[in-house]
Amino acid sequence: MVLIFILAILFSSTDLQAFVLLSGPTEARMDVTEENPRIVFELSLNPPSIKEKDEFLDGAYADLSDEDFWLTLVQLAIRPWNDVADSYLEMDVAFSDYATLDKEDRIFSIVVGKTNLTTSAYAAPGIEGKTIVDCDIAVSERGATARSLAFTLMHEIGHCLGLGHNHSDYSAVMGYARTDRSLNLGLDDEAGLIYLYPLSTIGEPQELAGCGVISGSTPNSTTLALVLLTPICLPLTRRLREKFKPRA
Ligand SMILES: [Zn+2]
Repeated sequence: MVLIFILAILFSSTDLQAFVLLSGPTEARMDVTEENPRIVFELSLNPPSIKEKDEFLDGAYADLSDEDFWLTLVQLAIRPWNDVADSYLEMDVAFSDYATLDKEDRIFSIVVGKTNLTTSAYAAPGIEGKTIVDCDIAVSERGATARSLAFTLMHEIGHCLGLGHNHSDYSAVMGYARTDRSLNLGLDDEAGLIYLYPLSTIGEPQELAGCGVISGSTPNSTTLALVLLTPICLPLTRRLREKFKPRA
């Protein structure tokens, strides 16, 4: 009875999304395709004040110059998004004299400067219809610790690619509740990215896919459903195979 109740909840929640889209139902995304998947952020040359470099990732980058450390920090913030296997989006960053806070210039910029920010950074996306045509990230020159700044950049980049704030998943980078500042995405961050920029190979049949389809649900509930269904499905599959196996 309890199992039926749990399954009923899982299957009735197929339209739930645990990630939040920046533009709501408009579903705006960067102007990229699977064939042309690349967006390059242009980075202002002056780094913010970055503290505790020695403690960041066991001091792996502590010997870099301030400029190189700054570039590396942004690269590390971008990498987790690029590493999601089922998404085609590829982002990169390069120093540029053209990085500026201007929603009209269609240059994705990361800029450091004097701001009245209470936070260490913010993102300012420019959206036209269903396309994010520009997104500039402003970083306060007051800076922060390397760890905190890298995490904040990873969050702001999430806004630029089209994700809003997620208040239902404590492990999401796009939520407010996460206390862990590691450079790892939450499952719902990945789900949002894949929703916006899915590889065309997604949906091709895979192992275990024969025991129920849970379309449109989030990875969290999918994972939960698979865990719950596996004890039922595996013996059932075995029994069916036994029943229908070709007779000698
Ligand atoms: Zn935010």
